[in-house]
Amino acid sequence: MTDRLVLVINCGSSSLKFALRREGTGQPVISGLAERLGSPEANLQWQTGAHKDQLSLPSGNHADALSALLPLISAEASSPLAAVGHRVVHGGEHFTQAQRIDAQVIEAIKASAPLAPLHNPANLIGIEAAMQVFSATPHVAIFDTAFHQSMPAHAYRYALPDNLYTEHGIRRYGFHGTSHQYVTRQASLLTGRRADQGAWLSAHLGNGCSSCAVLDGRSLDTSMGLTPLEGLVMGTRSGDVDPNLHAHLQRTLGWDLARIEQLLNRESGLLGLSGLSNDMRQLEQARAQGHAGAQLAIDVFCYRLARSMLGLAAALPRLDGVIFTGGIGENSALIRAQTLEHMALLGLRLDNQANSNLKRGEATQIQQHGSPAILVIPTDEERQIADESLALLDH
Ligand code: ADP
Repeated sequence: MTDRLVLVINCGSSSLKFALRREGTGQPVISGLAERLGSPEANLQWQTGAHKDQLSLPSGNHADALSALLPLISAEASSPLAAVGHRVVHGGEHFTQAQRIDAQVIEAIKASAPLAPLHNPANLIGIEAAMQVFSATPHVAIFDTAFHQSMPAHAYRYALPDNLYTEHGIRRYGFHGTSHQYVTRQASLLTGRRADQGAWLSAHLGNGCSSCAVLDGRSLDTSMGLTPLEGLVMGTRSGDVDPNLHAHLQRTLGWDLARIEQLLNRESGLLGLSGLSNDMRQLEQARAQGHAGAQLAIDVFCYRLARSMLGLAAALPRLDGVIFTGGIGENSALIRAQTLEHMALLGLRLDNQANSNLKRGEATQIQQHGSPAILVIPTDEERQIADESLALLDH
């Protein structure tokens, strides 16, 4: 039982990330990425331990990349695959947990595609290709939205006419569920609780960013909404803006919807504010050299994050701790410290030394004595997907 293997797949329209995970272990057996699929430059890169390799797949598609992966997996695997776990971005209201993939589940993922037009069709390409290549293995879908299906109506409804919800599914769904679920479980275990106990605010800060209030293993509210644009300042996404901005830009600048979507999704956030970069590492360096845009971007990022988490605290009866994760949350002492300065109202007091001395990849607590916990926990969405896939099959 301890040796079961799960292949975790995360598909974009021209890319495919994969990791072969052994049950209950932290490191992938083999992991990698196929990129530029469908183009003459298509290629597959992978890593096993310290060994890296790559293969060119001219004009290869997702199925070609998976077929090329098959012998690599067979060479590394000591047993047949127990499952293939697929990350699916949007499960709409159909899915509150992982699902064994069959024709009905595929239809339901298709039905949710209008809510995630960039992601769900790409996820489906991966599912269909993998079901061809790994035809004897059970396939499981894990939805980014599923963890947030426990939100109460007062958290997930927009103040819009009822029929937009009942007939068109317009409501807040939330994303990054796999990550929030994983880190809050780890936080509970790290602080001596049962995995499903605790009142947490978690901040997943990568290229996309979201915050979440979790009580006893259930998401009660989160910052992302109908789409992953709502909420926090992100690498290139604006997060919250005045909902009248679209109309204003159309009236005053004559911009059409495609232009405005481009602005809000690709040209805003840290990149737009700094005028320099969407990459936090680069912004921290520029700020240290006195770059005013980088300073402003970091200031707005931290203040909005604190404001979001203080707002989400309304969902909780008490606070056991806050959790930082994702590339920024795990690695930036500056962002953690500056965000927490705005959160003193919740009694959070950071141990500055512990914050600065934190080692990359470490899961630990960095609060002063008497403060609610402040935790840094490296996220591991692939592990959560692998564990959930196996848990579903065990039922
Ligand atoms: P993704 O959402 O694509 O998975 P990541 O979780 O890897 O992204 O996060 C990427 C972000 O993490 C980038 O903004 C990057 O600059 C930031 N980051 C990574 N390492 C550091 C670091 N040491 N200090 C500050 N930011 C960092």
